[in-house]
Amino acid sequence: MPALPSLYISHGSPMTALHPGQVGVRLAELAQALPRPKAIVIASAHWLARQPSVGGAARPETIHDFHGFPRELYDIHYPAPGAPALAAQVVELLDKAGLPTMLDPEQGLDHGAWVPLRLLYPNADIPVVPLSIQPKLGPEHQYIVGRALASLREEGVLVIGSGSITHNLHDFRLGYSEQNEAPYVRPFIDWIEQKLKASDTAALLDYRRQAPFAQRAHPTDEHLLPLYVALGAAGEQATAQRIDAGVDLGFLAMDIYRFDDAAIASTAR
Ligand code: ZN
Repeated sequence: MPALPSLYISHGSPMTALHPGQVGVRLAELAQALPRPKAIVIASAHWLARQPSVGGAARPETIHDFHGFPRELYDIHYPAPGAPALAAQVVELLDKAGLPTMLDPEQGLDHGAWVPLRLLYPNADIPVVPLSIQPKLGPEHQYIVGRALASLREEGVLVIGSGSITHNLHDFRLGYSEQNEAPYVRPFIDWIEQKLKASDTAALLDYRRQAPFAQRAHPTDEHLLPLYVALGAAGEQATAQRIDAGVDLGFLAMDIYRFDDAAIASTAR
């Protein structure tokens, strides 16, 4: 089985589930282009825990972790099976990497997980293991988490980080739109792309100090942190490909990144 890439997906607002727009098209194309995964491990910006936690439910429930949205959104369920054995393996890999990890037998799929998964694999027939993010421990910690999971790709497991490449919800009030984009969005997404393409991991880990408008794009870290899980999971020689999926509401950039392990790609040739 060929090693899979890892992915970072911007999931946008929960409304993406009802109006998938560009990101829906891009994710469907991406699923077509990838070998079919045996299982998925997805780290979502909406499952925050002090220490790494892994969902081991055999039937993870769909969590509607949002308020005040249209009724039809609450009627959507994503009935993908879990993968308890893979969850136990993830715990073991993280423990071995020096990251004490909890197995949570109940955790379901929050909207950061099910909204993009439903666009990638609408049949919900690939087993899913949710993984938490540690919002206080910063990019380097999440990168180490990702590195510990890199070997899973060779077993046909797709590792996904789900967040948003820009995420400042205060901007809802400022009247931005697709025609009137927030001025910080382009410089920030361009910087991230440039550093990923240059494999400048040191600069990326220090994004809060080095990236233009970092505080504005991410008042808190949690929606960018899944990027580091995906980057780490691609291995030391990851190559990054940006997939443009537009900017929702003029301030939520929907970039998707595909990371391929260059070491594996070159030996496979
Ligand atoms: Zn979110």
